[in-house]
Amino acid sequence: MEHVDKLAKTAAISDNYQTLSWTSYEALHLVDSWIWDRWCTQWKSKSNSTYQNTFKFHRGFNHKFCTRKAEITITRFRMLQTRLNHGLYKINKHPSGLCDHCGVSQDCKHFIFKCKITEGLRKVLIQWVHRELREGKYEEVLSNGHVLNSLYEFCSKNEVII
Ligand SMILES: [Zn+2]
Repeated sequence: MEHVDKLAKTAAISDNYQTLSWTSYEALHLVDSWIWDRWCTQWKSKSNSTYQNTFKFHRGFNHKFCTRKAEITITRFRMLQTRLNHGLYKINKHPSGLCDHCGVSQDCKHFIFKCKITEGLRKVLIQWVHRELREGKYEEVLSNGHVLNSLYEFCSKNEVII
């Protein structure tokens, strides 16, 4: 045991060391890890978008969608980038961005949580979220598979362009 300690001390102060070369596979893992850490730090320290203020930093969203159309619709809701009036207004495709029925900005949160035309949808959604259907719970609500399916079905059935 003393011999091992002596060798360890000698190695620790030795100038004679060998350079280890990384395989590309090992290097990619290091780079990926560095990127994720950097991204996470920036997300937490410089949250300046609506998405960053709505969703916590995450490594993706895994959900199996029944169709490609459902995936597109739900992803747009999750990314807060839809063709509701507020989204159209941001790209100069709508004069005001206001909801035609309520007179307030028609964004994703308004559409799901407050709009007059989605009262029926909310009655369906509330069974899946245990009465926690609040705007502040957007991330949680939009991570529930039953909610996502119901939301897609509502938009599809009512021909809401998302
Ligand atoms: Zn409305």
